[in-house]
Amino acid sequence: MLPSSQPKAIVIGAGILGLAYARSLKLAGFSVDVFERSAKASGSSIRNFGMVWPIGQPKGTMLDRAMRTRDIWINICKSANIWHKQTGSVQLLSNILELELGKEFIERENPHRPKLQLLNKEQTLSVLPIAHKQNTHGSIYSGTEIIVEAREAIRLIPEYFAEQLGIRFHFNTTVTEVQPHRIKTSTQKTYEADIIVICSGYEINLLFPEVFAAAPITISQLNMLRSARISQTIPAVCAGLSFLHYGSYEKLPSSAIYKKWVTDNYPAQHFHGIHLLISQNYTNQLTIGDSHDYGQHHDPFQSNDVDQHIIDYLNDVLDIPNLSIAQRWTGQYLKLTNGKSEWFEQIEKGIFIANGPGGAGMTLGFGMAEDTISQMIG
Ligand SMILES: Cc1cc2nc3c(=O)[nH]c(=O)nc-3n(C[C@H](O)[C@H](O)[C@H](O)COP(=O)(O)OP(=O)(O)OC[C@H]3O[C@@H](n4cnc5c(N)ncnc54)[C@H](O)[C@@H]3O)c2cc1C
Repeated sequence: MLPSSQPKAIVIGAGILGLAYARSLKLAGFSVDVFERSAKASGSSIRNFGMVWPIGQPKGTMLDRAMRTRDIWINICKSANIWHKQTGSVQLLSNILELELGKEFIERENPHRPKLQLLNKEQTLSVLPIAHKQNTHGSIYSGTEIIVEAREAIRLIPEYFAEQLGIRFHFNTTVTEVQPHRIKTSTQKTYEADIIVICSGYEINLLFPEVFAAAPITISQLNMLRSARISQTIPAVCAGLSFLHYGSYEKLPSSAIYKKWVTDNYPAQHFHGIHLLISQNYTNQLTIGDSHDYGQHHDPFQSNDVDQHIIDYLNDVLDIPNLSIAQRWTGQYLKLTNGKSEWFEQIEKGIFIANGPGGAGMTLGFGMAEDTISQMIG
């Protein structure tokens, strides 16, 4: 412990994990400084759908963590006057096989999840009028999902945490060196702390590159689209291909048959790791995605073919007349290759890495910080 009355913590990175650890450390009694190399957070956390998505988490620790994270999001957004919407979610089932998987999922998961329901075609069309009139066979409705506008929320939370919790944020300040109890920054300053938490996301070459090189990780790159505003208001949406993308759907009786069906019927989507997620913001624009390309290096060139495969699939499950795309971007996140959703490790005395929720950092971040903080403060 440094010789001061209040213990000190340094958090590196102001993405969702950096914010979550800053909050938990502050609530545990630490004086907290957050260092972010950009003028505003610009990593995974502002490029995502803003979906807090418990439905995708397997029952047990991860579902509990997601539900707690959801509650924390709602509290913060309400207190800080940040836009959020408790939309729930609709997973479209667009053929007989998907309907069967939907039934299997509901039967297995109903005891563990609140507000879960199988909707028939008519009910689906009434909750989601833009569902494809012919192809829709039904849907899974879940009432637990919420949406935030990530690019705003992640940039507004620091103001709220600074004002309400007294957390100090240092933007435009890259941490260039980390040693036990001490960091150096691009502003040529040295700061000391009892605990240092590295929440650097997919930036694996700056701090402790040898630790990242030895870790079971890859980086996923995703193509993302945003539409012009549409006239309807909709809940968060996913569709059949999502059965292959979330831990919660694993090992359903028809999973293997469905995987084969997808390989045969949607080979391009399967190849590019495409499934459909759609979130709507307060101006009724849709954030649409996504594809998954894995590897340690990604070229910066976004393929129009991949975007078109996403749109083609969208048109099979939804009817959105005159859909017009207003923005395109890519996002990346660090993914663990050992099947886990948490990488929390002390790499030197008082220096911790917090990473690993992959495609679910918005859904798991606040809960992960709460769950792991006891390992830091003993
Ligand atoms: C396209 C896309 C869609 C997604 N959709 C969802 C979703 O809807 N729901 C969901 O739950 N999850 C989603 N995810 C996953 C989620 O966004 C990530 O899990 C999460 O944002 C990771 O947060 P992070 O804080 O670890 O990383 P980041 O958000 O990348 O933050 C790391 C920060 O550290 C800073 N940094 C790095 N090195 C230094 C240094 N040396 N000094 C100072 N600062 C440094 C970076 O500038 C960056 O701001 C999505 C991800 C992507 C890419």
